[in-house]
Amino acid sequence: MRRLENRPLYEILPSMNERVKSRGRHMPKTKLKEHRINRDWCKGCGICVAFCPKSVLELDAQDKAVAVRIEDCIACRLCELRCPDLAIEVTVADQKPEAGSQKSE
Ligand code: SF4
Ligand code: SF4
Repeated sequence: MRRLENRPLYEILPSMNERVKSRGRHMPKTKLKEHRINRDWCKGCGICVAFCPKSVLELDAQDKAVAVRIEDCIACRLCELRCPDLAIEVTVADQKPEAGSQKSE
């Protein structure tokens, strides 16, 4: 087993970053299936809109999140992770959605 205790962080972190990056190069690209937005749970805070790196999401006239540029989505899941109300779920190919959520328009 490798010992890390005696090594300073500035030595450990760059090599860990490189390992994560190289692992990422060999991982298959995630393919978006759909955004499932629970309109009853969405409170229109706009956090998902603000954090989406591809400007996929907007708030509609009822202040509910909607995916308006689905084709630009890279399935990074930042919107899902940042939503404080668990109102948005990003499903990818070969992944089953959770019960109770509904597809966004
Ligand atoms: S972060 Fe969640 S609650 Fe806020 S607008 Fe987006 S989906 Fe709605
Ligand atoms: S998964 Fe990423 S790119 Fe797609 S809508 Fe959410 S934050 Fe935007």
